Amino acid sequence: MRARIKQGALRALRSAGVFRLAARSKARRERLLILCYHGISLRDEEQWEGLLYISPGLFRRRLEILRRFGARVLPLDEAVRRLREHSLPPRSVVLTFDDGFYDFHRRALPLLKEFGYPCTLYLTTHYCRYRFPIFNLAVPYLLWKSGRQTMDLSRFGGTAEVRTGSYEERLAATRMIVAFAEKNGMDTAAKNDLAAAIAEAAGIDYGEVLKSRILQIMSPEEAAETHAAGVDLELHTHRHRTPRDRELFLREIRDNRERIRDFTGRDAAHFCYPSGDYAEEFFSWLGECGVESATTCDPALARPASDPLLLPRLLDHSFISDVEFESWLCGLVT
Ligand SMILES: [Zn+2]
Repeated sequence: MRARIKQGALRALRSAGVFRLAARSKARRERLLILCYHGISLRDEEQWEGLLYISPGLFRRRLEILRRFGARVLPLDEAVRRLREHSLPPRSVVLTFDDGFYDFHRRALPLLKEFGYPCTLYLTTHYCRYRFPIFNLAVPYLLWKSGRQTMDLSRFGGTAEVRTGSYEERLAATRMIVAFAEKNGMDTAAKNDLAAAIAEAAGIDYGEVLKSRILQIMSPEEAAETHAAGVDLELHTHRHRTPRDRELFLREIRDNRERIRDFTGRDAAHFCYPSGDYAEEFFSWLGECGVESATTCDPALARPASDPLLLPRLLDHSFISDVEFESWLCGLVT
């Protein structure tokens, strides 16, 4: 109900010309909207997890709105510099994608090329050398895809009748299976075997899942092609984690940067906190690594006074309507 009232109110403001005024305001001109995406569905991923995946049709619509709105889509590096210098063009926007899924290469690249928009991809590199889906995503996807209310997970750390019908139940079952894999010291290949066994128990052809390349990170060759296509590849840690230990944290950045250098021939200098998780102690460590900016998932427009290591972003997803998206572009944030 509240959501419907909000949609109605936003549409009324748009009809009254308030969006246009806000878009032209000095306040909006001083601010930068950094958009955050993860995956664009190859199959039905957005029906499973609409916060993480959007359909190709929705991504195209977003780009069309940006074009209609006259947004100035800037490369991250330039946008961060001009934000600090108070020299942003009107309606400035930055496009960022997290993780570096294969679907970015397949779905986003052609669309970005068609619209002529620059983009930053924060690439987590551990899975680049595996043609497996990310285990922590494959498990809940398979449980959802099974369509079952309960499953026998007794071989995977659970009981003979684990409830898997609702989102929360699948989340709990996933936590249990991930803990089971960790407890047994499984490496990436062993976790993939475990995912294959869960698929079999769920009545799903795992060979097809692998072939579709859903939930997979792009290969080194695809990462190099993505860079060659003009996308800026930046840091997201090697293993998608942010340890509170300085040595381990620095190792994550170092390993990540080395891989990205192999793909691009250049040193990445911008960072995105995996899962939006940040802590006070990271800032000096990022400084030591020569990181120039870091983005969060805290929803807001960035301002000239924003800490460059805490740049907010709007996580765009399947449940944000066109009018809400437009209100963000105008800086009319509710
Ligand atoms: Zn991530």
